[in-house]
Amino acid sequence: MALLEVLAYPNPVLRVTADSVTVFDDKLRKLISDMWETMYFSKGVGLAAPQIGLSMRVVVIDWEGERYALVNPRIVEEEGEERCEEGCLSFPGIYEEITRSTKIKVLYQDENSIEHDDVIEGFLARVFSHEIDHLDAKLLIDHLSPLKKTFLKKKMERKAKEQE
Ligand SMILES: [Zn+2]
Repeated sequence: MALLEVLAYPNPVLRVTADSVTVFDDKLRKLISDMWETMYFSKGVGLAAPQIGLSMRVVVIDWEGERYALVNPRIVEEEGEERCEEGCLSFPGIYEEITRSTKIKVLYQDENSIEHDDVIEGFLARVFSHEIDHLDAKLLIDHLSPLKKTFLKKKMERKAKEQE
């Protein structure tokens, strides 16, 4: 296994819509196991492939020991609404209250191309929605008011400049 670098905003890969996965081979399984390792190392509960620089529809999630590898995930039904604080490994140190559905139905394939059809509720539904957003180039700040979004964008851009 290998640790991968988690990209921070404003890295341009985070703004590219990810491509569907069509080949389920050992390379994909190796990528997923590297993503697990990277996610655990970074103390996250979810990680999407664009966050490590790959525009592929792949996500890993571990919420309280429930592990999911999602390939080509798609939310097909949503209900309920809840506001809760969430963070993102690509926005280190930033936590914001965001409204999301409390119950979702999601279709996806696993690393062996087996199709799944799960109903997910509570905070886990939030994690799924957040990670699937990444595949469509949608980020945490896109859920905020324009004022807050501009403020956080500038803050992240300044931070990136300082690290150059
Ligand atoms: Zn994120």
